[in-house]
Amino acid sequence: MYYYYPDYFDSFRCVGGVKCPDSCCHIWQITVDKKTLKKYNKVKGELGRRMRKKIDKKTGNIVPHGKENRCEFLNDDNLCDIVLQLGENYLCHTCHTHPRHEEVYHNVRERSLAITCPIVCKELLMRESHVTIQIKKDNKIDFFDRYFDNSLYAQLSYIRDNMLSIVQDRQFAIFKRMALILVISHYIQRHINKRQSRLRKSFINKIFSSYPDFLPVEKKDIEKTLTTYSKMSIHMTDKITTGFVKRSLTDMIFTLCTMEPLKNTWLPYLNSIINIRTQMEDEEYNICQKEFNREITDIQLEQLLFYFVYLYCCTATYDGFLLAKIKMAVANTLLIRELWFMRWLEDNKVLSVDTLTEMAHWFVREVENSDENLEQWDSLMQRNPRFSLEILIKICSYFNYL
Ligand code: SF4
Repeated sequence: MYYYYPDYFDSFRCVGGVKCPDSCCHIWQITVDKKTLKKYNKVKGELGRRMRKKIDKKTGNIVPHGKENRCEFLNDDNLCDIVLQLGENYLCHTCHTHPRHEEVYHNVRERSLAITCPIVCKELLMRESHVTIQIKKDNKIDFFDRYFDNSLYAQLSYIRDNMLSIVQDRQFAIFKRMALILVISHYIQRHINKRQSRLRKSFINKIFSSYPDFLPVEKKDIEKTLTTYSKMSIHMTDKITTGFVKRSLTDMIFTLCTMEPLKNTWLPYLNSIINIRTQMEDEEYNICQKEFNREITDIQLEQLLFYFVYLYCCTATYDGFLLAKIKMAVANTLLIRELWFMRWLEDNKVLSVDTLTEMAHWFVREVENSDENLEQWDSLMQRNPRFSLEILIKICSYFNYL
């Protein structure tokens, strides 16, 4: 088995308690796995009684409480009563591993640390050096899964390695790098579509659940696309109007409002910034954006983009929508930047690393900590014209020429 993970994965330690600016034990639904549930059923005393009363026997869902939907076992010092009384071994799988995340791809496990944790997020935003992806191997073998599309995963993994190099290529401005990976995934998507249609048409493939490989000509073209664009100074126009960019980003923020909010202050916050944006003159927006551009660095945006591309790219193995995954990575980075911009305006043009962290990890929590939201966000990238390739590239162009 192969394990992929970013170089900072092993060094993470949860600070917990009052040192954590936003505990992960509230807002989202925590579900106890079956094995741990059995252990909890044997716990005696007051804690055992609370467990049986507050954890749904069938689903394992912990009943949250209070305005902030806090976990029943999170005490007033933001510490976990289960850990305090029984030790870490009594944590359920979710709590034990969070914010560590693992994507399963047949004989590969892709690990990451979710920036929904403010500590992980802050470290990433403060980091200057390139993040690297490490690979470890052990002798464990996974049973062959005939429903797993190995050929597509192998190509996506190769494509992702190349895209991550582009994301980290600091000779180009970050917005050019964003446009480059969008264009590349747009071209490669055509080959994936052709392959998917061969898959649908083939009777033999359907019967034996086997996936067709890419044709040699397709592989060659994917390789050519990657090498050509990695060396290319993509042409970007400076004719994009401020009004277009302001409107397009406001529409995207508006779309966020259609998803299930996890924190009860999320929707009021988004609505308040939409109001401010609609009242703002285009000229003022443009001047402020120019000023704001000097407050943040390409490296901070690069770290976010790298995080999202690493996480999302290969998930296209399951649906074939590579372009949607890359759009999601770019849109997330642009939207976090826009949330930073709005907070900077609200805070009288002051921006601390804590504020950067707060807004970035909040956005990611709202999108990623709910399966429903993540699915909706992904499908918006596939179908909603607000997230079209053209609009995203135009926004990148505008910021590139600020
Ligand atoms: S958010 Fe991060 S630091 Fe805070 S309690 Fe959760 S894992 Fe620990």
